[in-house]
Amino acid sequence: MTHLMHTYNRLNQTFVKGEGVWLYDNDGRAYLDALSGIAVCGLGHAHPELTQALYHQAQTLWHTSNLFPIPAQEQAAQTLCELSGMQRAFFCNSGTEANEAALKLTRLHARKHNIEHPIVISFTHSFHGRTFGAMSATGNSKIQQGFAPLLPQFLHLPYNDLEALIRVSDNANIVAILLECVQGEGGIHLIDPQFIQHIRQLCTQHNWLMIIDDIQAGMGRTGKWFSYQHYSLTPDVLTLAKGLGNGLPVGACLARGSAAELFQAGNHGTTFGGSPLIMHVVNTLLQIYQRDQLIENAQTVGAYLLSQLQQQFNAHPNIVEIRGQGSCSASNSNKALTSLLIKHCMNNNLF
Ligand SMILES: *Cc1c(COP(=O)(O)O)cnc(C)c1O
Repeated sequence: MTHLMHTYNRLNQTFVKGEGVWLYDNDGRAYLDALSGIAVCGLGHAHPELTQALYHQAQTLWHTSNLFPIPAQEQAAQTLCELSGMQRAFFCNSGTEANEAALKLTRLHARKHNIEHPIVISFTHSFHGRTFGAMSATGNSKIQQGFAPLLPQFLHLPYNDLEALIRVSDNANIVAILLECVQGEGGIHLIDPQFIQHIRQLCTQHNWLMIIDDIQAGMGRTGKWFSYQHYSLTPDVLTLAKGLGNGLPVGACLARGSAAELFQAGNHGTTFGGSPLIMHVVNTLLQIYQRDQLIENAQTVGAYLLSQLQQQFNAHPNIVEIRGQGSCSASNSNKALTSLLIKHCMNNNLF
């Protein structure tokens, strides 16, 4: 009998070691890791430079708290802001916390503009996390099942439905739109380029915060540093996590313009977030991504994978659609076909 709470139905497969794109079980059998710890291990397992950075910092200083300046945190914020077009960062420990910070910004934004009952728009099939705010924003009733009462101020609209968005847009209580450019947990659905342009316009016109949850699609996965960079626009708030720490717990909420000035000392915080240990590894990771041009690589490999999937499987009667961008991809197929597909990719050295 397990002493773990039953939050997961785990697969019957244990791994004891990882190296690059490979995972190993106790018998030394190798498994190609196409999951990457749920879009987390972008640099692969046991990356020697990250391991070295972690080891070095572990011998130097782990944690001091945010009561003191943390130079490695300043450095990570600067790099991420330069890459994303944001101006300030808040570091936390997970994706859901990054979204909580973003949602708290929407409340401060509302206060500033004397809106007493602020509404945030989010979309059906979205996933934003498991804490109460992020779970309430999530457009999936399965995630919310059993946890009512939720935060009531979310308006879930159909994704990519411009008319539905325009219909609600004269509601003076709306303060923000929260969206993913690629709905990851929702099944790899890409945003319509026209739809996202309209969102940007509406947000500017009505002074709503445009918040992009790039927790899964960010950090190079789509073939750009951040998913919105495919559309030549910039959100007001950006949330990151998953690929940011390659497996270490780290999240970030970034903002620009007036949104970047909303938090004041005392109204948000974290004990663990942005520690010297984690930030040192994040800085090393960001350097490696830039030095080795891994964003360009994700674009090239992703485009190749998608074109091969289309060539090989488009005509298959059981496959309804093949979608993807960079290394985010999915096919609506059955299990046997998925393993066939993986085999095909391996035989052709696609990974
Ligand atoms: C995984 C994910 C989250 C939640 O991140 P956690 O680190 O699990 O809290 C939020 N948004 C998106 C888009 C995600 O994919």
